[in-house]
This record gives sequence, C-alpha cells and structure tokens, in this order.
Amino acid sequence: MSLYPLLLSPLVVGGITLPNRVLMGSMHTNLEETRDWNRVAEFYAERARGGVGLMVTGGMAPNREGGVFPGAAGLFSAQDIANHRVVTDRVHDAGGRIAMQILHAGRYAYGKECVAPSPIKSPISPFPPHELDEEGIEKQIADIATAAARAKEAGYDGVEVMGSEGYFLNQFIVTHTNKRTDRWGGSYENRIRLPLEVVRRVRAAVGTDFILIYRLSMIDLVPDGSTWDEVVMLAKAVEAAGASILNTGIGWHEARIPTIATSVPQRAFTWVTKKLMGHVGIPVITSNRINRPEIAEAVLAEGCADMVSMARPFLADPHFVRKASEGRAAEIAPCIACNQACLDHTFAGKISTCLVNPRACHETELVIAPAAEKKRYAVVGAGAAGITAALTLAERGHDVTLFEQSNQIGGQLNYAKEVPGKEEFHGLVNWFATMLERSSVTLRLNTTADVAGLTSFDAVVIATGVTPRDPQIPTDARAQVVNYADLLSGVAQAGQSVAVIGAGGIGFDVAEFLVEKSPSATMRPADWRKEWGVTDPELKRGGLTDPEPARAERQVTLMQRKPEKPGRGLAKTTGWIHRASLQAKGVTMIGGVNYERIEAAGVRVSFGPGREGARLVPADTVVLCTGQESNRALADRLVAAGRVVHVIGGADVAAELDAKRAINQAMRLAATL
Ligand code: NAP
Ligand code: SF4
Repeated sequence: MSLYPLLLSPLVVGGITLPNRVLMGSMHTNLEETRDWNRVAEFYAERARGGVGLMVTGGMAPNREGGVFPGAAGLFSAQDIANHRVVTDRVHDAGGRIAMQILHAGRYAYGKECVAPSPIKSPISPFPPHELDEEGIEKQIADIATAAARAKEAGYDGVEVMGSEGYFLNQFIVTHTNKRTDRWGGSYENRIRLPLEVVRRVRAAVGTDFILIYRLSMIDLVPDGSTWDEVVMLAKAVEAAGASILNTGIGWHEARIPTIATSVPQRAFTWVTKKLMGHVGIPVITSNRINRPEIAEAVLAEGCADMVSMARPFLADPHFVRKASEGRAAEIAPCIACNQACLDHTFAGKISTCLVNPRACHETELVIAPAAEKKRYAVVGAGAAGITAALTLAERGHDVTLFEQSNQIGGQLNYAKEVPGKEEFHGLVNWFATMLERSSVTLRLNTTADVAGLTSFDAVVIATGVTPRDPQIPTDARAQVVNYADLLSGVAQAGQSVAVIGAGGIGFDVAEFLVEKSPSATMRPADWRKEWGVTDPELKRGGLTDPEPARAERQVTLMQRKPEKPGRGLAKTTGWIHRASLQAKGVTMIGGVNYERIEAAGVRVSFGPGREGARLVPADTVVLCTGQESNRALADRLVAAGRVVHVIGGADVAAELDAKRAINQAMRLAATL
C-alpha cells in the first residue's frame, strides 16, 4: 500500500480527473520573459514527467497595465498563443496537466500605468496607481476574461485567477485599498463585486469542463483586512460564480509577517484553510511551507484541505511525486525555503533556479549526460561543493572517491543547521547523506588527502572549503574570543553579554543563535505566531494582532566597519525578516566602527577616519564573524606536483561564499568532465 494514500488519490476538478492531490503552485521564474519557448516547455515537461497532479504557470498579465513589470509576459497576440501551445503540447505529451495563472498586479505593478480601485500607493512600489473609472473597470474584467479564453485556445487545462496576496482583485476586496463610494466600493457586497464578476466572465469565456482555480486570500495579514465571515462569504460566492476549486492565499506581499521563508514553521497556515472546509462544495487547496510528502499527507489526513500546493519544492526536485509514489521519499531533494536562487533571483530580474538544484529552469542547458570516457576522480572535501561534484561525476559513470578529513559530511552546512530558524538545513545534509549512500561514490571520512595519496587518480577536484578569518584585532590575554564556527558547533560557549564582530549573513545568524532559545520559535508554531502577531482571522481582521516578542536569551551587540546600517546587504526577500527579528529581541546594531582593541570587558571601538568617540562596547564574550579565507594549500601542492586540479566552492573563492554558488559551480564543472 502507498505510504501516502490520500496525497496520491485522484481528484476530479472542473471535469478533469487529476491523478493525485499535488498542485505545483504558481511561481514567477522570469522564464516566459526569455521567449525561449523550448526552454519554458522543458521546465514544465520535466515536472509533468515527475508525476505532479496539476501545475500552474507563473502569473501571466491580462493587459499591459496589469503586468507585474513593464514587458511582463501574457497572451496578447496570436503568436503568444502559438508560443504557449509549445508548452501545453509538451506537458500533455509528458502526461501532465497545466493551468495558466492570470495575474493582474493592480497597484503592485512596477510601472507608471498601474491601476487600482483607489489612488493609494503601495508601500512596496514607487508608483502611485491610477484610480479606475467605470469604463476602466469594465476593461480590466474584459481583459481578464479574454486572457482566460486565450489560455484555453493555447491548450491549457485551466486558469488560476489570482485573487490574493494583495494583487488587483484583493485590492478591491478590503477597505485598506478600496476607498470607493460607487458600486465597486463601500459595503462588502460592493467590494467583492469585481472578483465575482471576473469569475463569472471567465467561466462564461471558457465554458464548462475547464479548470477555474480562484486563489482566495484567507488571512490578509495587513491592517483592515477581511474578517473570517467575509472570507467565507466570498468563498461561497466565488463557488456560485463558477470556480472549480479554491486555492489558499496567505498574506499580502506588503505584510510585515514572513509567510514562506525558512524560519516560518512548516505547514504554518494549514489551520487557516481548514477553517474553510465544509463551507464550500468545491475542493480546497492549502499551501505555504509544505515541502515533504509526509507533511502533505498529514495535512490531508487532518482534514485541512482536499489538495496540497507546493511550489518551490518542484524547483528543488521535479520528481517529487514520482519518488514519493515509488517509496523513495528520502531521495527527494529538499526545498530549504531559503529563497536564495528562486525569489531573490526573480526580484533581481534574473531567471529563477534553485540552490539545491541548479538545473531548475536550466534544463535545456545544464545536462547531466553519461561521460564519453570513464575516469577515476578524487574529490577532496565533503561540503556542499564536494558532495555535488562527487554525485554528479558518479551519475555520469565516473569512478569517484570522496575524501573528508572530519568525521561527518556537510562542511559549512553543519553550522547553518544550528542557526535558529534554519532547521531545514538538517534536511539538506540528510539528503546529501542518502544520495551518497545510494550512489557509487566511495566516501572516506576521517581521511586527510595528500599529494602522494592522490597519485592513482586521473584528476582531482578540490573542495577543501574555508577557514574563518582572524581579523588580527589587538586582543588582551584575558579576553574571551571565539569564532562563529566554534560557537555554532558547540566547541565554544558564549556568556550573557556578547559582542559580534562582522555583520554579514553569518553575523546575523550568530546573533539569532545567541538571542533565541532552543528549540527555536520555528519549531513552536503557536509561539511563532505570537512573536510575529498572527492570530485567527475570526478574532481579528486580517488575522493581525500585536506582536509579543520573546525575551532575548542574551544581550548582543552586532557591529561592522561599513558606515551603514547593518543588514543592508542581506538578501532582498529575507533580509528584512532577519533585521526585524533581531530588532524585536533588542540586539544593538552599530555600523561605521573601528575595532581598537578587544579587552576582557568588551570591545573598544572608535568611529570614522579620525577614530573619534572611542568607547567600550561591553561584552563578556566576543564572537568573530569576519568572513573566511580559502583552504588552497592542497590545491597548490598538487599544482606544484604537475597534477590536473579543479578547485571549486569556498576553496576557489571565499568571498561571498554560499551554498548556492558552491553547488552550482560543482554541478557545472562535473557535467563537463
Ligand atoms: P560576509 O557577508 O562577507 O561578512 C563578513 C563580515 O565581516 C562583514 O560584516 C565585514 O564587514 C566583516 N569583516 C570582513 N573582514 C573583516 C576584518 N578583517 N576585520 C573586521 N571585520 C571584517 O561573510 P559571512 O557573514 O561570513 O558570510 C559568508 C557568506 O555566507 C555570505 O556571503 C553569504 O552569502 C553566506 N550566508 C548567507 C546567509 C543568508 O542568510 N542568505 C546567511 C549566512 C551566510 P565590514 O567590512 O563592514 O566590517
Ligand atoms: Fe527552495 Fe531555496 Fe531552492 Fe528556492 S532556492 S526552491 S527556496 S531550496
């Protein structure tokens, strides 16, 4: 019997039988904007081959003013329809099903032409929207219905009408953004007139036996959001208007509460979807922070939903469903919810990919093919780069030995997994362990590779990683100074008052480690909701209440030399979460310091080129988070001995070392050897 009997059971939606209850949720990857339709088709076809029940495309603009940014993709011409045919044909040939998301961004559109119910600028866009008149509203509805008809013509199995996350339809629904006094504003009946009219007109445009998903904001997480009664009323009305299935939206994009980041507890919002079960006759989909089949199965078993949406997990592993159904769930590459290669890329205008799986969105270009000539490879260092290189070389048929001088694999990932809110990194290290076990790679732990011991190999890949940098600050003998690696691995401990030197990604992580109690709030969902101010939308509009930050475990000061606010260089989609979390725990952040001396009582600092305002930052422990230096000694010795070496990961470039670059570089190298 299947381990996931509910997840892998069929579901009839819109006259179409889906083979299982797994939806690949919409993701804007910027792929469609490349206009390379073979590449787009291969991205979706690969996931269709992996067995997902239904996929939803990234958001397609219904018109120019509704596009997320100028030039956003949409079905505007016969050529566009023909291009999308390439995608739907390929998906159908692969045995899959695909719906197109219609996304009207309203005031979130990054362009001067953006439109909205009322002329209120959003906090996340520089462009004030134009208030729509009656004629303008009719145009938007007609354009959305036309987009749906064109989606059908292009061969899609359905459409998803994006009605959540604070986009155009959502903007009409709540008084936060709708101040109108005509028939499109004022009472709740008036405010939901537009989304209901959209659903009716879309249904009329596509006919029956065509999937119409409506993505409904079930907890807005913004001031003046919907009440629970209103959510239920809208859900019933959307069903009556012709939707075949309801998908869950959690939080507006402008909400100051994280909803998908790695520090959000797993399945953190399925309780919200569960509240809707029984109120409507059509199936309901739940979403957010579900990344493993056993979690999805539990969500269904507990009656939280009829179907489960996962999006980023399908970047990490296109064959998620197939592996689950074949009893190989341990082989599913885990999405660690880091956003580093997906959403952070999307917002930077780059094509999304995945930290764990660099082939995501690069299927046509990064191909792992059998090697023409089999060789014996030594890979030295079993961190993210070394493991990826070893696995990829072995997959291609090479004979691979992986050397690791410590007693465990994982390298720097072993520090990351100790950081509160980064527990998902355990899953990544475990997955690497499983894949190594099930591969032909010979793993030699507790083995220091040297030049003599490597002579029998045809070539060597060096992934010897990094060593924490010692910034050489004058230090008193009695001062208690540790580096981040020793602190996070438990070799060294910190006192009650700590100064952290260096406010990069690791400085922020270490500060979190010092102020947060164990296990972290990520593992305690009720406390996590309290800390961020999330409540039941039945109790407070939009599910928003006053945050109750937990008491910090220690007093921490985080410092950097750059004369700017610490944390500015952190990632776009998650940096604000780290900054807000530390602020809530009273961490003092200081930029523009010179480190004069580390003393027993703290760090003596001064400010500016004139070294003015000298003072002591009190601390009983000082933690160094001042970057890393490459471990290249073995590589240099091998080169001196005339050997062919390939250097990857932190051993290659220590600056801005991260797992995304290490894994990508390792896979790309191994694909060519
Ligand atoms: P980093 O981001 O380069 O930060 C190093 C910090 O040390 C900086 O604040 C730098 O700032 C300071 N520093 C450098 N040399 C120094 C010196 N000689 N004396 C005193 N201060 C010095 O490096 P990291 O924090 O070690 O992180 C390494 C990489 O891991 C990052 O690039 C990041 O990609 C990755 N990472 C990412 C995340 C994430 O959340 N995405 C989390 C952790 C790590 P000043 O020069 O201004 O003092
Ligand atoms: Fe998940 Fe990170 Fe990959 Fe995005 S980059 S899909 S969040 S693992």
